[in-house]
Amino acid sequence: MATFSSVVAPSRIQALTGLIRTTTEESRTTVTPFTGEALAEIPVSSLDDVDAAFATAREAQVRWSRTSLAQRSQALLRLHDLVLARQDELLDLIQLESGKSRQHAFDEIAHVALTARFYGRRLRKQLKPQSVPGVFPLLTDVTINRVPKGVVGVISPWNYPLSMAIADGLAAVAAGNVVVQKPDSQSPLTALAAVELLRDAGFPHDVWQVVSGAGSVVGTAIVEQADYICFTGSTATGTGIAKLASERLIGFSLELGGKNPMIVLPGADVEKAAAGAVSACFSSAGQLCVSIERLYVHDSLYDDFRAAFLRRVQSLSLGASLDWDVDMGSLISAGQLETVTKHVDDAVANGATVLTGGRARPDIGPNFYEPTVLEGVTPAAECFAEETFGPLVSLYSYGSLEEAVELANAGEYGLNASLWGPVRQAKALAPRIKAGTVNINEGFGATFGSLNAPMGGMRTSGTGRRQGDEGIWRYTETQSVAVQRLVPVAGPEFIKPRLYARIMTLALRVLRRTRRA
Ligand code: NAD
Repeated sequence: MATFSSVVAPSRIQALTGLIRTTTEESRTTVTPFTGEALAEIPVSSLDDVDAAFATAREAQVRWSRTSLAQRSQALLRLHDLVLARQDELLDLIQLESGKSRQHAFDEIAHVALTARFYGRRLRKQLKPQSVPGVFPLLTDVTINRVPKGVVGVISPWNYPLSMAIADGLAAVAAGNVVVQKPDSQSPLTALAAVELLRDAGFPHDVWQVVSGAGSVVGTAIVEQADYICFTGSTATGTGIAKLASERLIGFSLELGGKNPMIVLPGADVEKAAAGAVSACFSSAGQLCVSIERLYVHDSLYDDFRAAFLRRVQSLSLGASLDWDVDMGSLISAGQLETVTKHVDDAVANGATVLTGGRARPDIGPNFYEPTVLEGVTPAAECFAEETFGPLVSLYSYGSLEEAVELANAGEYGLNASLWGPVRQAKALAPRIKAGTVNINEGFGATFGSLNAPMGGMRTSGTGRRQGDEGIWRYTETQSVAVQRLVPVAGPEFIKPRLYARIMTLALRVLRRTRRA
């Protein structure tokens, strides 16, 4: 079995962990999912450290919010260049901490670069004060300002340790906020390498601080102090955070779980749909919020699709390698392996058939599980409606489009959906699907990679949107500033109220007839 613990030099680990805000002697060991070998000793922050991070952040935010948009844009565009230039180390760290294959790790590099470029280029347009018509044309001049919220708490998961750690927070700092972040305890090194990049790109140190520790302790402390929370993780944790944030009346965005459907429509190219389904289901070993876990195929195509899909799934290579030669990597942990194993066993006990996969691969590494396709999954099975978050997909057939829509919309989630087939038909169907993103002839990458497009969940998959203009506006308060000229809105002193009411009535009637007001 390969040795991964020596890939990152101890001095480098020390330099990265030195970026954590901590005064304690406490630490916890992280391991690589590839082999279970120890990777690093990660210092743990205390609640006092979180307090200190917020005190520093509040001071830093005042200075940072006064920087020009041009300066922030430049830093973002430098970050774009740096993440591409230093991708080799970042790819190693992502892989070592998450166990995913290198090709799937690269998606994170690309996503961060796309995000940095998008906000770097669009920032001015998104944040510049906007003039809107006032109550009286010419007399009332109204400007809408977008004022930063203050200190944004970013709580991120392990599955996209680079992208989820940094991409959402970029919009926050671009808008003039500062960030206090808690990365997942299993993947802090990648997040810390990202913070180092931010500093090298020109973001001042105090603009992005990292604290480390258990979500229930350090994460809660962040929610108790932040002016806004950006959380990515499970629906269960997100629900608790929403309660706490609501009590404090602070805003939040929650990017949560999904049980994402793909519908293969009549007339779809079966080979292309099958190829698309493979990457839609097994990227990052299915540990991806927008990953497809339910496949609905029209009766007329079912047998052909099934054969084409299985052929491709069976040819996927699994491995623990930092090279580009592996199709699919490991699950993150023994816990995740247990969930996948349980879902498969339970589905089989409830009548499902394993078409391919269905077993762990300890011969490759302690947390590997084969890409698995089930057929005949019944509603009694846990994986029928619950998110597995692993390399497991269930295949179903359907007869009519009505039925397909109903099946796709079943359950509580609403994150992502994929439609394969004639574009016009798929576009017409999209608004009927309860999902924040709908990808046509693609699994998830078309919306994920299109930064102009807002992305997020409906129903229990979350609230708020990342990416697009909404992705940065969530971190701002809109402030309306109105200047009144010549005549007060309540009328000049010398006009009696009754006369004023008459003049106003006339004015309102005139305004009703004009186009601009
Ligand atoms: P999780 O909710 O257990 O943990 C996510 C983060 O929250 C971690 O940093 C964790 O330490 C922290 N946390 C845990 N308890 C907390 C608490 N009480 N208060 C504050 N923070 C706390 O999620 P996970 O299992 O690590 O991640 C997998 C889940 O994330 C899946 O359900 C997946 O679908 C979802 N996810 C969603 C998206 C999205 O964009 N919608 C992206 C990635 C992952």
